[in-house]
Amino acid sequence: MAREPESGPHYWPPGLERDDHGELRIAGQPVHVLAAEYGTPLYAYDAEHAGERIQALRSQLPADIRLHYAVKANPNSQLLHRLAPWLDGMDVASAGELLRAQQAGIPARDISMAGPGKTDTDLQAALDAGCVIGVESFGQLHRIADQARDQGHRAPISIRINPDFRLKSSGMHMGGGSSPFGVDAESVPELLEEARHLPVYIVGFQVYAGSQNLQADAIVDAQARSLSLVLELCPPSIIPEFVNLGGGFGIPYFPGDRPLEIEPVAAGLAALQEQLHARWPETRLVLELGRYLVGESGVYLTRVVDRKVSRGETFLVTDGGMNHHLAASGNLGQVVRRNFPVALATRLDSPETETVSIVGPLCTPLDRLAERVRMPHAEPGDLIAIFQSGAYGLTASPVAFLDHPLPAEVVL
Ligand SMILES: *Cc1c(COP(=O)(O)O)cnc(C)c1O
Repeated sequence: MAREPESGPHYWPPGLERDDHGELRIAGQPVHVLAAEYGTPLYAYDAEHAGERIQALRSQLPADIRLHYAVKANPNSQLLHRLAPWLDGMDVASAGELLRAQQAGIPARDISMAGPGKTDTDLQAALDAGCVIGVESFGQLHRIADQARDQGHRAPISIRINPDFRLKSSGMHMGGGSSPFGVDAESVPELLEEARHLPVYIVGFQVYAGSQNLQADAIVDAQARSLSLVLELCPPSIIPEFVNLGGGFGIPYFPGDRPLEIEPVAAGLAALQEQLHARWPETRLVLELGRYLVGESGVYLTRVVDRKVSRGETFLVTDGGMNHHLAASGNLGQVVRRNFPVALATRLDSPETETVSIVGPLCTPLDRLAERVRMPHAEPGDLIAIFQSGAYGLTASPVAFLDHPLPAEVVL
């Protein structure tokens, strides 16, 4: 099948506000005002929008499903603080993220720490805090146990299972086959047997099968298989407090992408919850989501510093690029480079009169924010908005590359 042309329709985030002159507003504020106040480049996050997104999701899901936020998607402290009241917990992957989650007001027992390379410092911080530590290997189990023994208490752990299947049509596979993440399903009985003799207690299981999926049926299928795996592997002596089914809920980034339908996922979860409660009436299902909760609530704003034509191709050169927004440049896990939704932020309604490529300031051909997009005529000084930028933006980018200043981040 032919690939969608880059000029094909992009999904526009709902709630996109524009004033009568076609200028983009973020949380009610015109972008030229934000740019004047905070400078460019700038990440602007609409926390209210993210809060509404979480509430909307929750209203569709069966009651009792616990919603966790994966901090790595966007660890901005102010944002975490604003989101915390809407969440049941946070998932962290370092001592630094743990601290941020705690400072946002999440109780330690509602935080779990994942990551294949937890250092002794990470483990120490997790034990001191009392958060749940996700076990990803035999070695990690023993290091957790050693530290817990030194401290004279038992560590709450969950077992991350590396499933023997994958989340189909996923942007990123994180399970199936050999993996640095989690304990291979077939080795879990042996790990549980070892854990019986160690100063740890098992509070949950986690299966994470993939990320950035827009197909409800694939998610439903992976979640059903994940729960079956846990039910099969968990011995009668253990009653877990939770089963974390991962997430993988994607958002539409590229031309032709359509938003994930939540209804079938919710129906699937209702059935799984019933199956779960037939065996363990008190055990809760957990979803851990990152980009789905915050991705659509962030905009990256960058200013045009030059306009040039090179052998027929028009380039807009901006003050920010892949050093701040690696994902939009196509260098964060994309196989074929495709454009994020971009717009001339002060003239959203103007006719698209030309085809341009938008490139950042770095001296590398990788620094492309948009290739051959239709836009109204833009000049130096104009503001470009890149949407769907609330997740895996600044902190997932090589900010020190070429030593430009960090962009401001503003939580509105
Ligand atoms: C990254 C990650 C997430 C969040 O992924 P999204 O695609 O942002 O929802 C959730 N759980 C684990 C274990 C992760 O590594």
